[in-house]
Amino acid sequence: MARVYNFSAGPSMLPLEVLETAANEMLDYGGSGQSVMEMSHRSKEYDAIIKEAEADLREIMNIPDNYEVLFLQGGASTQFAMVPLNLMTKNGKADYVITGQWANKAYKEAARYGKARAVASSADKTYSYIPKVEKADFDPEADYVHICMNNTIYGTKWNNIPDTGDVPLIADISSCILSEPIDVSKFGMLYAGAQKNLAPAGVTIVIVRKDLLGNAMDITPTMLNYVTHAENESMFNTPPCYTIYVAGLVLKWIKKLGGLEKMAEINRKKAAILYDFLDNSKMFKGTVVAEDRSLMNVPFITGNDELDAKFVKEAKAAGFVNLKGHRSVGGMRASIYNAMPVEGVEKLVEFMANFEKENA
Ligand SMILES: *Cc1c(COP(=O)(O)O)cnc(C)c1O
Repeated sequence: MARVYNFSAGPSMLPLEVLETAANEMLDYGGSGQSVMEMSHRSKEYDAIIKEAEADLREIMNIPDNYEVLFLQGGASTQFAMVPLNLMTKNGKADYVITGQWANKAYKEAARYGKARAVASSADKTYSYIPKVEKADFDPEADYVHICMNNTIYGTKWNNIPDTGDVPLIADISSCILSEPIDVSKFGMLYAGAQKNLAPAGVTIVIVRKDLLGNAMDITPTMLNYVTHAENESMFNTPPCYTIYVAGLVLKWIKKLGGLEKMAEINRKKAAILYDFLDNSKMFKGTVVAEDRSLMNVPFITGNDELDAKFVKEAKAAGFVNLKGHRSVGGMRASIYNAMPVEGVEKLVEFMANFEKENA
């Protein structure tokens, strides 16, 4: 069996150890004689799986007790609607910072339900930077401020959390959840689709401050009301059982590794290897301003479309897959999520150096 180095932006690599455990437990989970896929979500076995996943997530992210942790479906994209339906309900307005396609989709969806305002945007330079915003830029009457913490397509990240005063800050952390420590208490809500850094596609994590709940718009469908899921411990209906089980295995893997401080140390090391190479290469260059670089998604170009295509093709043949950049940016993008080992980035950089020599 030959496994490749998979630089996919999502769904993306899972830790090998996690896949092996899932494989070993596939036919008989813990002596139950069943796969987790076949189990009732109301069974004793499954109850332990979901409870432990929540407890581990709370421990690893240091989530305060006044926050709900919900396991939902519909991807991060469903949150683009759930956030305004549930939380844009006091003054009917919210501020959005437009740092890329996901942030823009969130903003457009919110505009269907109230007065969404684009406070700042980096569209002028293909979202290659995070706009500078300060407290005075935000409407103190806004029900919340929404940001996309890590911009998966463009490779930027908010390295400083903006000060929104008393207005709750909400962040889409789909592509950076569990990549480094985050102070949950600074946010009203965090959400993330799982398929970048946590699990296979299918579950969406919502972490929301309890005092913000209970004011959903009347039109809110029952399934899109956070209270429905909070009151039923994410078991109002059948949850994405197997995905939550794999998320639980990933959380145990992070714990064993040493938690988020250790995870961040490894991620910073990986990113530094790649960015250092890009900064010193004559052929390849990064597309993002240095201070706003992402730890997880690293877009780069040669400046020559044909050479980009040749690189992607030869890299694939050499076992480095999914390096083609997003269609809106072009070039290449290496997504180096938690599950990508340091060795994978070292080997990629070696391959890039050789490619540069051969094509100079
Ligand atoms: C992938 C991604 C999304 C979309 O997630 P879905 O689960 O496919 O809806 C939203 N936001 C960010 C930052 C993403 O990376």
